Amino acid sequence: MDFDDTSATGAIFVAAERTATQRIWKSAAIVPGLKRGLERSRASASLLADLVFPPSCLCCRGAVGSHGALCSNCWSGINFIEKPYCDRLGTPFAYDLGIEGLLSPEALADPPVYTRARAVARFADGPVRQLVHRLKYHDRMDLAGPLGAWMARAGRELLDAADLLVPVPLHRRRLMWRQFNQAQALAAAIGRARSMKVESNLLHRIKRTTPQIGLSRVQRASNMQGAFTVPDEAKPFVEGRAIVLIDDVLTSGATINAAARALLRAGAARVDVLVFARVVTGG
Ligand SMILES: [Zn+2]
Repeated sequence: MDFDDTSATGAIFVAAERTATQRIWKSAAIVPGLKRGLERSRASASLLADLVFPPSCLCCRGAVGSHGALCSNCWSGINFIEKPYCDRLGTPFAYDLGIEGLLSPEALADPPVYTRARAVARFADGPVRQLVHRLKYHDRMDLAGPLGAWMARAGRELLDAADLLVPVPLHRRRLMWRQFNQAQALAAAIGRARSMKVESNLLHRIKRTTPQIGLSRVQRASNMQGAFTVPDEAKPFVEGRAIVLIDDVLTSGATINAAARALLRAGAARVDVLVFARVVTGG
């Protein structure tokens, strides 16, 4: 190979490289200006939006500092569930005994079908009940994002160990009537927050169950028996997977246990549960 040819080729490369570098420098000088301009126009757009639609409390619609937040009054009305809690049921303990993985007497006496459950708050009258009802019955789809973000935080350890999210399904006819499954909206919000897969077609609700209100614990369980199934064609997507079941509220656990049982029968490796609110009895 001729040395001069090589150096000529080298020179062309250097020249081309310099031109490219100059171009990058030029665009680098333009980009921050553009970026600042865009940021400024975005800031003025959001200011304008705040003037037209001032941020209001998710629950009582009172004035708040930013969109998707609660006012201090509603915030203080929420009984958030924090550690220490039963490792299995996620129900809070009155005292911190400083022992990791401690189980409640309820979890030992009547272990649930799922492995672990976590909830953001206790289900009670006040802001929690209002938020749940507005999402469920009043088409307040805007609530799914903030509630889902809280759930993603409360269920971090479950989500870290999970392969996919499955919302508790409604029966086909109820979905047609309601047009909207709140569990699915929450699962979608959590999926977005955690970049996780949401599978809404693996679990089917095949039995139209009567409302659980007024039924005893045993009656609730028998009411839910056979309510869910995993169709044969969905089984390969369930087998060996760690699944987090998503719902808005956990009450007696009859519904969630029936859903978890169907997934485990279809070969799921583990089923955990994440809800926005759960009923806590005795304390
Ligand atoms: Zn409020």
